[in-house]
Amino acid sequence: MLGTFIFALVAVSLAAYRLDRLSYENFLQNTRTDTFLDLVEVRQEFYAVHHDHSLSLREMATFIAENPNLSQEEFADKAEQIRGGDDFIISIGGAPDLQLTMIYPLDGNEGALGLDYRANPEQLPAIQRMIENRGELVTGPVNLMQGGRGLILRLPVFLAEDDNSLWGVVSIVLDFEEFLVRSGFADAERTYDLMIEVVDKASGSKNEIVYGDPTLREKDAVSISLGFEFEDWLVHATTKDGWPNVSPTQWKERALIALITIAAMFLVAYVLWLSETRKRAELLLQNGIEALPDGFVIFDKQDRLIIHNSRYQELYEFPDEALKPGATFGEYVYSSSKGPQLLMSDADQAEWLENRANSRKTGVSLDVEQHLQDGRVIKASDRRMEDGSYVGIRVDVTELTLARETAEAANKAKTDFMGVLSHELRTPLTVILGVSRLAKNARLLGASKTLLSKIDSGDLSPDETEKLLDDVYSQFEKMMDKMIQSGEHLLHLINEMLDVAKIESGSLTIEPKVSNIADITSPVVEQLSSLARQKGLQFEVTQDAGTVFADVVRTRQILFNLVGNAIKFTDKGFVRLVVKVESKTVVFEVCDSGAGIPETELLSIFENFYQVDSTETRRVGGTGMGLTISRNLTKMQGGKLTVKSTIGKGSCFVLTLPSSATA
Ligand code: ADP
Repeated sequence: MLGTFIFALVAVSLAAYRLDRLSYENFLQNTRTDTFLDLVEVRQEFYAVHHDHSLSLREMATFIAENPNLSQEEFADKAEQIRGGDDFIISIGGAPDLQLTMIYPLDGNEGALGLDYRANPEQLPAIQRMIENRGELVTGPVNLMQGGRGLILRLPVFLAEDDNSLWGVVSIVLDFEEFLVRSGFADAERTYDLMIEVVDKASGSKNEIVYGDPTLREKDAVSISLGFEFEDWLVHATTKDGWPNVSPTQWKERALIALITIAAMFLVAYVLWLSETRKRAELLLQNGIEALPDGFVIFDKQDRLIIHNSRYQELYEFPDEALKPGATFGEYVYSSSKGPQLLMSDADQAEWLENRANSRKTGVSLDVEQHLQDGRVIKASDRRMEDGSYVGIRVDVTELTLARETAEAANKAKTDFMGVLSHELRTPLTVILGVSRLAKNARLLGASKTLLSKIDSGDLSPDETEKLLDDVYSQFEKMMDKMIQSGEHLLHLINEMLDVAKIESGSLTIEPKVSNIADITSPVVEQLSSLARQKGLQFEVTQDAGTVFADVVRTRQILFNLVGNAIKFTDKGFVRLVVKVESKTVVFEVCDSGAGIPETELLSIFENFYQVDSTETRRVGGTGMGLTISRNLTKMQGGKLTVKSTIGKGSCFVLTLPSSATA
């Protein structure tokens, strides 16, 4: 910023200096033009004064040409007539045969009488040239013998009757100082420094400075030429003491330029400050949007990219070269062959693009969930701003979506479980209530009725009474068996629920110790073999003798569940329990020839309340808690519980437990 300011300062100062120079040059040019115009005026007057006296000279010459033998008196008369009383004409002379013998007025000019041009080598060539050319010769200024300076006009005189016969020369001597006054030269000299340089046309000899300051030559003076027949006068002029170094208005102009310069610098400083502020604001905005955890993007009215953060690029894996500010959405989405992580299916993608185009057309907000090819879910929200541009936020909601789906699944499982549980609880309760009601009306039972009617008839022998009472008892026994079974089932359900609650709260404790395998398996085999028999299943048990490092009650509970499930889900064939003692582990294998479990469900069945959704499951009942409890109990004992199953062929659950504490 400081660098730019200094640069601007130098540039503006240079411009100001240049402006100052231009203004001065302009002033100087105007001054020179004015000077030249004044010189033109002087030249006009100069010519006019010269012309007047040139005419007088010619009048004199004509008079002599016509009167070549004129006497001194006649000459003086004519000269007096021409001169009048004007002192400007110092003298009028006549030089027959190039010797000055006539002069008027004689007074004061006697010194010139007798001057012989032929004997004057300085003047002779010019005189001869004048005669040859029959022109007027202007000489001067010359120092006059009688004092002062004079300007001499000379003309050759040829006889009127013989044009080739030279009479001589007439001359008029003008007072040079007065000549300067009358031609306005003196007036001009009040304003200008002047110099007159005489250039001899014929000889081209070195110019002679006849008047004024010779240093004017070096002062780049303005010049004007005054042409006579045989010579030119070059008049040079500058203003007094040379050209002015400053114009009279220079200081005003300089003050104005300085003011403009200062104003320009203020403007530059203001613009720099604005641009710096803008840069800072942009940086702040860029840093701000960069710090956002979500993708951020702004498009202008024409749907061209204005700004985005790197999270936006990451989310869609846009290549670097694609996201150039100014690129339209269409351009950068399809700009690279690798392409961004667009939507999952072509249809999805087309739908998104259409929604987007619609939102741009109608100005409505856009809220869409995009499913990317790698499975991520992005929530895209675009909002239209007042100026027609769009601001977009892209949030990766993959985890949220998963969590939501999991929560929904868990919720559904719980709802399902409540349905299943209420069914499972109601069934045994209904049995218990039903049996209790029957027991309450014991007299109405078939066996009771028979006994009572026999008693009423009075012909009942003691043996018969005993038999009928046995019937009544056995009917009660059956009823009580049902009640007990239902009660136990209820107890089992409640225990399972308690176990699940304990597992979830982490309060379930387990006490593994080295135990006899048979102690664990025997009650299971005893209790469940009758159940298997009832279903007509073959219950095969093969077991190595030995010990296992386990909690007897809890391991038994696992086996009850596995074997119980095997019997429950098998209609024909076998249920097999094999216990193998291996080097460091004991393996309990529970296989059956039942319906089997679909492969997709093999993991889910270990989840709480999960049941394979089939009519078979519904028919045989259950709550989906057993395997969850079993796997948790297994884990707590340092073992593992796995399953293999083939649909239609059967399932095999394998429980592996350590054989000793160190295993
Ligand atoms: P429950 O038996 O009370 O329904 P579990 O957790 O013991 O609950 O079992 C979960 C589900 O696993 C059962 O509902 C059933 O669908 C399936 N399952 C368990 N064992 C077997 C088996 N041996 N054969 C077929 N399906 C089984």
